[in-house]
Amino acid sequence: LSHSFSTTLKAPSPESRKKVAIIGGGLSGLACAKYLADAGHQPVVYEARDVLGGKVSAWQDADGDWIETGLHIFFGAYPNMMNLFAELDIHDRLQWKVHKMIFAMQELPGEFTTFDFIPGIPAPFNFGLAILMNQKMLTLPEKIQTAPPLLPMLVRGQDFIDEQDELSVLDFMRKYGMPERINEEVFISMAKALDFIDPDKLSMTVVLTAMNRFLNEDNGLQMAFLDGNQPDRLCAPMVEHIQARGGQVNLNSPVQEIVTREDGSVDYLLMRSGEKVVADEYVSAMPVDIVKRMLPEKWQTMPYFRQFDELEGIPVINLHMWFDRKLKAVDHLCFSRSPLLSVYADMSVTCKEYYDESASMLELVFAPCSPLAGGNVNWIAKTDEEIIDATMGELARLFPTEIAADPTWPATKNQGPNGEAKLRKYAVVKVPRSVYAAIPGRNKYRPSQTTPIDNFTLAGDWTSQKFLGSMEGAVLGGKLAAEVLARKAANLPAPELANKPVRDEIVQKAQTHV
Ligand code: FAD
Repeated sequence: LSHSFSTTLKAPSPESRKKVAIIGGGLSGLACAKYLADAGHQPVVYEARDVLGGKVSAWQDADGDWIETGLHIFFGAYPNMMNLFAELDIHDRLQWKVHKMIFAMQELPGEFTTFDFIPGIPAPFNFGLAILMNQKMLTLPEKIQTAPPLLPMLVRGQDFIDEQDELSVLDFMRKYGMPERINEEVFISMAKALDFIDPDKLSMTVVLTAMNRFLNEDNGLQMAFLDGNQPDRLCAPMVEHIQARGGQVNLNSPVQEIVTREDGSVDYLLMRSGEKVVADEYVSAMPVDIVKRMLPEKWQTMPYFRQFDELEGIPVINLHMWFDRKLKAVDHLCFSRSPLLSVYADMSVTCKEYYDESASMLELVFAPCSPLAGGNVNWIAKTDEEIIDATMGELARLFPTEIAADPTWPATKNQGPNGEAKLRKYAVVKVPRSVYAAIPGRNKYRPSQTTPIDNFTLAGDWTSQKFLGSMEGAVLGGKLAAEVLARKAANLPAPELANKPVRDEIVQKAQTHV
């Protein structure tokens, strides 16, 4: 269910109206500003770049084609995001796809298999039925062996899920005697789609969290594509909403330093331009790796901030490949189940703004792309040409009659020897630090939105909330930060969800920090 503000927070007196400076114009910073503006406050967002959206940002190349930071999918089980679309009155911008999941067959190039969700069957039975009906990926004994270890997730819920955070997906499978093939058939693609890393690195909590959210709602796993680029189609309506209520959103406004007073509270933000920004309250909606570098000296020994050391962003690469013809692609997301790729989609079919009747544009997520995430090649350091050539090899398996795998025909320069599709153009977007790496044992260090600093609150997809590092997590993190501030202005305590004690081991570590 969507997290909602209490109605008592909506109308502060003019004296209790706060000016809130928010650092970062990604989804979390914008969501925070939107909910603060709704509650009658005056948010001012400072975004470093010339484009909004952070990890959902996009820009046009010289031909006018859109380049996106990431291929993004919205799920039915994103209640806060769905509410946001409804509140902005833009829900018709989500292009919902048929409720199913499509996986490439590993042994059969060019063939796919689906998990189909039958309309009218409630969750979690629709999920169970979809698994039972699929005959191609798992045998019946494998399906039967898989269910018991996952049942406590449904019965005990979040407690069981949190307890599994010390185990990787592979550790969990071995501990509970799940067949190894489940890993090859399902978990590798799931892990790469959820956090861009392999199952031997990914915390089991991530998989269980996702499954739990998806299994609780009838349409939880149904997927939607936005009907165009995110800055225009999602961020711009948020900005209009914020501005219409007296807030501001500034681009090209990098914050250089958070300057503190003697007591450690924030005095002002020093902008790279030299300007000083003074507000009643300050929010960081920056990614963890950047906040770590910007921590003021006075905060360095505080246990709350030392939690951040335990978290870091994972690299991922997003690819766009324009072909000279229409490939046989479906109007949906596909799990490639190939070593270097995660999910992909033909955006010329799936997304209204990118529709093209005569030629395909594949958008693909390349993962894992560093040894931290799995494998042993540091792809993030390779050239664009090397990445595209390796991808073409994998695409040849997904499109065996349409894309050539012949290594004597470097894919980046030529077309295959038998008249296969020619790659017209490509764009490679490297994100060296994307969502926080959800490796085992990290969840407990995700910080609360409330901080020990009186006038400083934290937002971002990596802060503590029940969703993963995702668009939904970013929106919820921003909304919780806004609620902390709105309740404070109304002399109410912070919501319980936005409070979380720091672990003892971090308290001890902070004492020895120099
Ligand atoms: P960010 O988007 O990182 O925003 C932080 C902002 O802070 C940035 O705009 C940055 O420029 C700004 N900033 C940083 N430093 C400063 C400074 N000093 N001064 C001012 N501004 C600053 N999620 C899904 O739900 N579904 C998906 O299918 C999905 N696919 C993805 C695919 C890829 C390739 C990637 C990279 C991510 C994907 N995600 C997906 C994750 C999702 O994009 C993120 O979880 C979410 O967008 C993070 O939002 P955020 O606001 O917390 O952080």
